[in-house]
Amino acid sequence: MSTATISGDPHIQARFGELKPPLTAQAAAIEADRCLHCFDAPCTASCPTHIDVPGFIKRIASGNLRGSALRILDANILGASCARVCPVDVLCEGSCVMHRYNRKPIQIALLQRHAMDAFYASGEVPPAAPAASRALRVACIGGGPASLACAAELRRQGAQATILERRALPGGLNTYGVAEYKLRTADSLREVEMIRRMGIDFRFGVNVDSASALEALEAEFDYIFLGLGLGAMQRLGIPGEDSDGVMNALELIAAYKHGHLREAHGTVVVVGAGNTAIDAANAARRLGASTVYLLYRRSENDMSAFDFEYEHAKQEGVQFLWHRQPVAVRPGERHRLLLDTVQVRPAEGKLAPIPDSQYTIDCDMLVPAIGQSPLTRLIQELRHVEVRDGRIVADLATGRTGNPRYFAAGDCVNGGREVVDAVAGGKRAALAILKTTEAANA
Ligand code: SF4
Repeated sequence: MSTATISGDPHIQARFGELKPPLTAQAAAIEADRCLHCFDAPCTASCPTHIDVPGFIKRIASGNLRGSALRILDANILGASCARVCPVDVLCEGSCVMHRYNRKPIQIALLQRHAMDAFYASGEVPPAAPAASRALRVACIGGGPASLACAAELRRQGAQATILERRALPGGLNTYGVAEYKLRTADSLREVEMIRRMGIDFRFGVNVDSASALEALEAEFDYIFLGLGLGAMQRLGIPGEDSDGVMNALELIAAYKHGHLREAHGTVVVVGAGNTAIDAANAARRLGASTVYLLYRRSENDMSAFDFEYEHAKQEGVQFLWHRQPVAVRPGERHRLLLDTVQVRPAEGKLAPIPDSQYTIDCDMLVPAIGQSPLTRLIQELRHVEVRDGRIVADLATGRTGNPRYFAAGDCVNGGREVVDAVAGGKRAALAILKTTEAANA
């Protein structure tokens, strides 16, 4: 892997400027000084990785940026990307005691980013035990946040970890699926490169999708960690959805982030109302679409996107069509699409179409964004690993599955949550693997 692979397309960078610029050194010092260093630190308690927030902020205030970054990395090896993508309004900053005094919460995410950016600028790597100081080899399937966190913790404690990724680049959704104005691809790859330099092996283009592939891994490694993430986006299940001009939200985000889609024009319709739908709708606007509709079959109150994401989309000029459902896609004139929709209303626990409410939207692009499906191919092959509703059944505190050699965490277990949840789960699984090995060797 080379982080030079993606240096950033200037055209895309210009359109997807970061939502929040970094703090200057002076602003960071002033902000750090505002922290009360609460003894019970509700900010730390609300972070799934339990970063020592007052501890790292205190180090910024005293000018010790390296010590601050190491404090963050100790809890969360993806501290740099989490500083950019975490929904801090509902996590650390949302629980800051400053709210109680009607004061602005401490800008924890920007302070965290400040410390992490300084650490990356130094070129340093977090300390790890000497390579192979433990006779323990673990394969981590999937190159996203859960596997990265698991592998880093194992490596830190002297085990060997190998990450197997089916795609050309590591980082999972951080690299392929997060809006560029939140986390740039180059920044995701920079973070993975630091983890690689800790002494972790990566194998790319490896598709573990059969019983024989799993058997080969079982022969080579002591344990297998499943950080598989989720599968492709769900299909709408309507006629015509395979037409040219239909591109799901994750395909759209990956395409513009990696230089395959540089412009959008005319009218774009996004179907869905989660955070990924919002990211896709905002992207379509920034790529040049004059009109972007976000179409959702339920109400504004039912949307799963965070409030701040909804507000952001409104500011970007996205228009919302509530209680409307797509029913078919037909070819329009000059490569356009005709999206037939119908108004729906709740009736007896379901959504029923309202008679004579059909409406056709003439659009240039249709973007389904109604959630990701479970990864079914590989998990069908897992022996003694229970799968329920498409999710791997694993103990949330340890990542243990029903098969003592398999651990799992992240989206393939929780059904799709935040990056920080995947990091926390991956690290907990690593600690459980280490404890299991120690108990076996005692
Ligand atoms: Fe500082 Fe707010 Fe955390 Fe208290 S709750 S330690 S003021 S960031």
